[in-house]
Amino acid sequence: MKQCSLDELELVHLSEDASLWSLREPLGANDVAINRFQLAPRSRVPWGLHAHYDQEELFIVIDGTLTFETLNGERSLGTDEAIRFAPGEFQTAKNETGETVTYLAIGAPAGSDDIRIPLPCPTCDNHELQLDMNDDGLRCLACGESVPAECQVCGEDACEVRLGSMAGELVDYCRNCGRTESIRS
Ligand SMILES: [Zn+2]
Ligand SMILES: [Zn+2]
Repeated sequence: MKQCSLDELELVHLSEDASLWSLREPLGANDVAINRFQLAPRSRVPWGLHAHYDQEELFIVIDGTLTFETLNGERSLGTDEAIRFAPGEFQTAKNETGETVTYLAIGAPAGSDDIRIPLPCPTCDNHELQLDMNDDGLRCLACGESVPAECQVCGEDACEVRLGSMAGELVDYCRNCGRTESIRS
């Protein structure tokens, strides 16, 4: 048995807006990752639409309203509501309200090595790329093409895929320079 209190744990800042307490290590969990997130008003987690092919993810809102973007549009969860994403389902989370949202994110198994991004391959007609865990780039599993993750305009590794403003639209967005390219409409 292992017990812990958030008071004793380090708050990890992922960005200006997103922070978390990781409970996996203090609790000695082997097969499940559990993080308590805080997301500031009108902000997003610092990554875009992605899917874990080797992990299911559950989210439980403790306080506030959390909105998920998926390839089928948006879903909002209020306090005490929960959602599960199966392996292979694309999602990203944001807080569109004026209040901080607090939620638990649970992933099983604990680690994930097969993360996909819904970006088109520049060479073939595959519509998703795998994050390369070795060199931070992306690769197409259909044709083998390596695709740099950096922004083509500013060179920063700050690109993410989001829903666009039109129904069904996906955009490739750079958090650093604001470059926005429609990749599906
Ligand atoms: Zn390809
Ligand atoms: Zn950029």
